[in-house]
Amino acid sequence: MKTKHLTINENRRIDVPQLDMPPRLLLGPGPSNAHPRVLQAIAMRQVGHLDPTFIQVMNDVQDLLRYAWQTDNGFSLPISGTGSAAMEAAIANMVEPGDVVLVGVIGYFGERIAEMARRYGADVRVIEKPWGEAFAIGELYSALEEHRPAILALVHGETSTGVMQPLEDVGDLCREFDCLLMVDSVTSFATAPLFIDDWRIDAVFSCSQKGLSCPPGLGPLSFGSRALDKIHSRQSEVRSWYLDLSLLAKYWDGETRSYHHTAPINMNYAVREGLRLVAEEGLEDRWTRHRENAEFFWQGLADLGLECHVAQELRLPALTTVRVPDGVDAGAVARQLLNEYNIEVAGGFSKLAGKVWRIGLMGFNSRRENVVLLLDALGRILN
Ligand code: PLP
Repeated sequence: MKTKHLTINENRRIDVPQLDMPPRLLLGPGPSNAHPRVLQAIAMRQVGHLDPTFIQVMNDVQDLLRYAWQTDNGFSLPISGTGSAAMEAAIANMVEPGDVVLVGVIGYFGERIAEMARRYGADVRVIEKPWGEAFAIGELYSALEEHRPAILALVHGETSTGVMQPLEDVGDLCREFDCLLMVDSVTSFATAPLFIDDWRIDAVFSCSQKGLSCPPGLGPLSFGSRALDKIHSRQSEVRSWYLDLSLLAKYWDGETRSYHHTAPINMNYAVREGLRLVAEEGLEDRWTRHRENAEFFWQGLADLGLECHVAQELRLPALTTVRVPDGVDAGAVARQLLNEYNIEVAGGFSKLAGKVWRIGLMGFNSRRENVVLLLDALGRILN
């Protein structure tokens, strides 16, 4: 067809084959494989993003999120975006220019929080631990005493190092110092104990593609009443329009649901199904499953003569950092696992580049048979 003076350039009209992706077993730091029921849910026919039946899906997601996070927080919903979008939503809403934000950095994702808080105008203070360690409560006490921050941000499951930061007593400590506690639970969510209300966590965010066994695309977020008080008494506007809680709340909450953005409808089906699976299994059993499969894996690694990077009491059940033995090329082993066994694992990066592999057993993938497959493949390659 010809328009008035223009001829369509057909050069880029290429004929690509029908999509056919390899059957990878995703045992890296995420994404993990989506549960088959989640994939089925995604394929469910669409309705509109304001359809009464979709509003019910949104309500289910919010209720089930409250179960998975053990919270009564009214504001508990998935941000349309990945875990970083949920992280940014927490920061954009909670941080006002000039606020002192103390970030406990135990790896790369703490650094990311610090960088985002800086961009939103915070007076960022950083305390650090070597990659592979966590803060003791006394260290957090001293830092709060010294910096007197408005917000303390910690990463519960640090995916770059495989460390789980103990959090049980941190919320109480923060209240002593009249400070809000913000927690990154991107890797710990639905894989390890986390009690938002009992641990007095004021804001928490996560992702869809790890413990929840969904594809990437949504970032669950929950704000408690102290965080909401701070947000509602802001002197300045939230700098991000897309992530502004007060606008989002009008879409997610109340009688009149007004358009804010077009929610990724089928991804919300996915997260609903992922959360349904969590509720069906029950948190206690789910956390135990992750712990037992991780321990089974750690024992298998020891049998192969491999060492974990993190002390057992601080290890994340969902993600293990395995030290690369001297003389072994970490990248070559990962490539061989992918090419010959269809198993994806990741290497370390930044301070742990070339020193560890990062191996995830998350959600649907946290199963004994996967551990056996991986250990067998690793053993063959290393021998
Ligand atoms: N925080 C942690 C601890 C993570 O592991 C990740 C991603 O792996 C993120 C934040 C960012 O999440 P996303 O990649 O979904 O944006």
